[in-house]
Amino acid sequence: MAAPWEDVLCNEPALREAASVAVDAALLEGVLMRTEGEPNASDVVNYAPFTLLPSTVPSALFEQAYAVQQDFNLLVDAISQNKEFLEHTLASTVKVDDFTARLFRIYTQVLEEGLAQSVFLGINRSDYMFDCGVDGTPALKQIEINTIAASFGGLTSRTVAVHGQVLKVLGKSKEASHLLPNNPSKGLALGIVKAWELYGSQSAVVMFLVEEVQRNIFDQRCVENELWNRNIRVIRKRFRDVFEEGSLDDARRLYMDGQEVAVVYYREGYVPKNYDQQNWEARLLLERSRAVKCPDIATQLAGTKKVQQELSRPGTLERLLPGHAEAVARIRATFAGLYSLDMGEEGDKIAAMAIADPDRFVLKPQREGGGNNLYGEELRQVLEKIRDSPERTSYILMDKIKPQPAINYLLRAYSPLQVSECVSELGIFGVYVRQGKEMVMNRAAGHLLRTKAIEHADGGVAAGVAVLDTPYLV
Ligand code: ADP
Ligand code: MG
Repeated sequence: MAAPWEDVLCNEPALREAASVAVDAALLEGVLMRTEGEPNASDVVNYAPFTLLPSTVPSALFEQAYAVQQDFNLLVDAISQNKEFLEHTLASTVKVDDFTARLFRIYTQVLEEGLAQSVFLGINRSDYMFDCGVDGTPALKQIEINTIAASFGGLTSRTVAVHGQVLKVLGKSKEASHLLPNNPSKGLALGIVKAWELYGSQSAVVMFLVEEVQRNIFDQRCVENELWNRNIRVIRKRFRDVFEEGSLDDARRLYMDGQEVAVVYYREGYVPKNYDQQNWEARLLLERSRAVKCPDIATQLAGTKKVQQELSRPGTLERLLPGHAEAVARIRATFAGLYSLDMGEEGDKIAAMAIADPDRFVLKPQREGGGNNLYGEELRQVLEKIRDSPERTSYILMDKIKPQPAINYLLRAYSPLQVSECVSELGIFGVYVRQGKEMVMNRAAGHLLRTKAIEHADGGVAAGVAVLDTPYLV
């Protein structure tokens, strides 16, 4: 679908001028990241990578993605409370994937002890691409749902102004006025505020659990500032700090150096490299506590790729969301083909199908953060090697989504301006709060558009592949 600025795409001097305006606008608006060389200091910062131009997004698909978000919130929450489903679904995975197994062990241990936590806060981001069918009509297809540390809700609110200015510089003021405002960090913060209120201790703080390397701190600060503006105190701590300073009292209230913590918001803890023995102990301490974890460990497990694959089996959504036939239909409409590689006849057939036609599929391990999936020839080689071994059950197989590429320019510090054929991924942020059995908040909180050059099969913004973008609805 042609963008209304198609006519300027080959006007190189105009684009160069627009790019230099764009970079300064990004710095002024706060589309910022710390640098690779100085990831833990803000003395030197740079702009986070972004597209020169917005990308067109079919408005019907954009609306569809928003309309299904509350359903996905309900679904994730239902899975997180369904021990039998999680146990059954992850049984084959925990045998071969040590990381999922360790998370699962904490999950069972905490359940056996009995949950001290009674308020639950979910912040997720459901990601989609626009699959081009045989007749060229795009369809909304879910890539995955992120139930832990879903990022860029802060920075993305600031690209709208940048892209608006770029369009104006290029003589497209009317188009600039059509860009939608977007502020996920405020929506996420309102969820945290609600959870903090329900926890019910005026003096308790919100703890951001952050990484050792904190390049994306400005994105997190956007959420933090929304909380400070509402007079809620925020502390930033690492697992290491929790190990050293964290403790529980008799009622399993969580304290950091004597300060009570109402909400733990994880921006860390989703990949194996985040954990050493001490960090696992810290995670267990947090999970055992009464504090509202965002997410609790059950909700993190609900976001695994194995769960995603099992959800696509006929009847599963209906069992998880009884009495929600319309929600089930809306959710199912976004599913691409997903296949289990569990041992047995079904898995054998799937493995053979993928080996015979690797370009139709993506092979995914139980990992987050980009850069882990296998495609094409590499997919074929790996699957051929493990096709008869239980190791194959640590992966799921998914139909490859094939979006229509569009022309854009990716702006990255120290990189020359250069035209790229690009594809985009739309994420919708969801926020919900449950107290006991009652949902007290369930919302879509805003969106994120990320765009990458087609030569990269995989990877997000943090992985250095995709860049921030703004949707232009057509
Ligand atoms: P991660 O948890 O690493 O983010 P994803 O499932 O989101 O895992 O995959 C990473 C990236 O790989 C996505 O952002 C997307 O660019 C690409 N990708 C994932 N699944 C598919 C698919 N089915 N078809 C096409 N590209 C995909
Ligand atoms: Mg992803």
